[in-house]
Amino acid sequence: MNDKLPVFVLKDAVLFPYSEIRLELQNEEQKKLMSLVESYYNKQVLIVNQLDPLEEKTDILELPDYGVLGNLQMRLDLPNGKTRVVIKGIKRINVKSYVEEDEIFLSDYEIVKPAHLDKFEEVAYSRSLVRQLELFVNSVSYISNSILAQVKNIEKIEELTDLIALFLPSNYERKLEYLKEDNATIRVKMLLDDINKELSIIQLEKKIDEEVQKNIEKSQKEFVLREKIKAIKDELGESKDNDMDNLKEKLKEENYPLKIRKRLEQEIVRYEQCPFGSPEVGIIRNYIDYLMNLPWNVTTKDNNDMELVLKTLNYSHYGLDKIKDRIVEYIALKKLSKDNNVPVLCFVGPPGVGKTSLAKAIAKAVGRKTCKISVGGINDEAEIVGHRRTYIGAAPGRIIQGIKKAGSKNPVFIIDEIDKMTKDIKGDPASSLLDVLDKEQNKYFSDHYIEEDFDLSQVMFICTANYINQIPLELIDRLEIIELSSYTEYEKLNIAKYHIIKKLLKSHGLKPNQVVFSDDAILEIIQSYTKEAGVRELERIIASILRKIVKDIVVNKKYKETFVIEKSSLIKYLGIAKYEYNKIDTTYQVGVVNGMSYTPYGGDILPIEVTYFKGKGLVVMTGSLGDVFIESARIAFDYIKSNSSMFQIDFKFLEENDFHIHVPETAVKKDGPSAGIAITTAIISALTNKSIASNLSMTGEITLRGKVLPIGGLKEKIIGAKRANIKKIILPKENEKDLEELDDYIKEDIKFILVSNYEEVYNNL
Ligand code: ADP
Repeated sequence: MNDKLPVFVLKDAVLFPYSEIRLELQNEEQKKLMSLVESYYNKQVLIVNQLDPLEEKTDILELPDYGVLGNLQMRLDLPNGKTRVVIKGIKRINVKSYVEEDEIFLSDYEIVKPAHLDKFEEVAYSRSLVRQLELFVNSVSYISNSILAQVKNIEKIEELTDLIALFLPSNYERKLEYLKEDNATIRVKMLLDDINKELSIIQLEKKIDEEVQKNIEKSQKEFVLREKIKAIKDELGESKDNDMDNLKEKLKEENYPLKIRKRLEQEIVRYEQCPFGSPEVGIIRNYIDYLMNLPWNVTTKDNNDMELVLKTLNYSHYGLDKIKDRIVEYIALKKLSKDNNVPVLCFVGPPGVGKTSLAKAIAKAVGRKTCKISVGGINDEAEIVGHRRTYIGAAPGRIIQGIKKAGSKNPVFIIDEIDKMTKDIKGDPASSLLDVLDKEQNKYFSDHYIEEDFDLSQVMFICTANYINQIPLELIDRLEIIELSSYTEYEKLNIAKYHIIKKLLKSHGLKPNQVVFSDDAILEIIQSYTKEAGVRELERIIASILRKIVKDIVVNKKYKETFVIEKSSLIKYLGIAKYEYNKIDTTYQVGVVNGMSYTPYGGDILPIEVTYFKGKGLVVMTGSLGDVFIESARIAFDYIKSNSSMFQIDFKFLEENDFHIHVPETAVKKDGPSAGIAITTAIISALTNKSIASNLSMTGEITLRGKVLPIGGLKEKIIGAKRANIKKIILPKENEKDLEELDDYIKEDIKFILVSNYEEVYNNL
């Protein structure tokens, strides 16, 4: 048959041969088309699908070359203006060409001839298809099984496959694939495939449901049982009696100091005499609990083998050689010194550089228990020494709580964030902490709640802080400060390779080499997905990749002996990169000079911009700047004014213009005097039109007489500058010693110029 037939374009449903579709048409063109079909084409119409159902207007060039010959079974104009039609699919067709006439698509087509099938083959295919379908329908409660009755009476595989394809919960694209496929045997295979996929999804859903149900039931059951036991005990008045017996038993068994034993005996009598139900009961009981469970006489034995200590530290932490040596020396000294007058260790450095984990590693190395408290943000000394018991809701302070948790009187006791305590009317927690750390006093540490002295003299305290200059002054004297600084990218790479990945593979239940990260991938994570001085974020991100891999193995059944993570696979696991460091091209600019900053994320460069315009010699500063920063800008100006002739600047010019100094906004407020020489240079550059290389950066404080004073955070600043492609750095001469101490690979490819006054800076621009 070669006559052209009109084409009806379906957008979101698919009509298969042997089935019907019912449509309500609103569109005038479609209505017209159907009336033509009825009147002039013997009710025959070609049904073709638009491949992209979201496309508003049908493009004749985008229509597929396959479809279904349909028969218009009914056409009815409804009172609401719509036209209802029912079309039955007759046979698959191939479209030879489309033409558009009077806004109607017409098409040349040919009917697809079904491939010949052996009768036995046909029966075999049908049976296995129906069997699988039964399995599927019976495992899903929400699907009606009427389909099974329908398919049982169908013998022809052509019809059977189309019926099941229509029934399966597959999407539009998949349904079109079924329509396009004119070989029924291939359709059987596609259907078996899809049914099997559905079956495995159902199984997984079931497993998850069961898991959830089990958990809910377990916790509900436990809750109800516990409540019942409590109610019964209360009813019988038994809870206290039993409890009393237990307390007395424990008192007999445990080895308490005499004084504490006496105190406990008294308190137990008080508890016994206290009428059941009185509010006192709980208070006394809690107190007894604390007193009984403090490790009054429990000590652990130290490991005195310093080589083993060093080995343990090497095992847990990469690099940090000088620091590890100092730690070992410290531990050895502490063992030797009988007068115990050794200061307390304090690790200072940005977040994530290993302060807390090193302290824990020390505990492990010397074989002590450990506990950790944080004093960041506390402003009340009761947090350290506890509340008196008369106070409502009284509890011991954090020191005693820590000791109780540690369970021995000689643990390694980590006190985090000692630079973040504040002082106010509730007292000064720093001075309470001093009593805790001071060897003279801490043998008799008295917590307000506990009331009895606890001997803290055998505790090994280790403090941590982010900024040395924010540690309370009274504490500094007692501390042995060890500074940990930012890691370079090279160090981070090695930490990831030799420590973090190994540790995380183990904790995620993966085999040692089951996930292999290429160096490029690790470096890309470091450079583009993290911005930090330490490696905490790096660790978090690697863990998130491993979690996804574990999910693939467990849920998606994608087991592999080795998963390789390349730089190119990161997008898949982590999405697009989060950070882009300022990579500087070599250009020259007027009025823009790179300062160098030190932030909690490590070092970075800090471009300082200066412009001027007609005015009265005023200075405006924008950006997030602290007081000291603003002050150094004033000093820079005054220095330039008093030396204007040296820089060939007309003094009058300074008075007749206003100046704007801008430092681009970042999350961290910039402060400190170290931008002095950079500000000075930016102003001079703007005034004299002298262009400054953008791969030059500088740091140093400037005085009114132009002397350049030393700065801190040198290592971080240089690492930040290197990352930004800086090739030349001007530094205070007085920092020469610090520079020498830095490893060579940090200094590689950078020219350093050491200066002691501003003239030298100027001459080296
Ligand atoms: P901080 O206390 O300085 O904020 P943490 O001690 O909590 O940092 O360290 C964060 C994470 O980084 C920890 O898991 C730690 O094991 C890891 N880490 C830090 N430095 C190193 C290092 N040098 N070698 C191995 N792992 C490290």
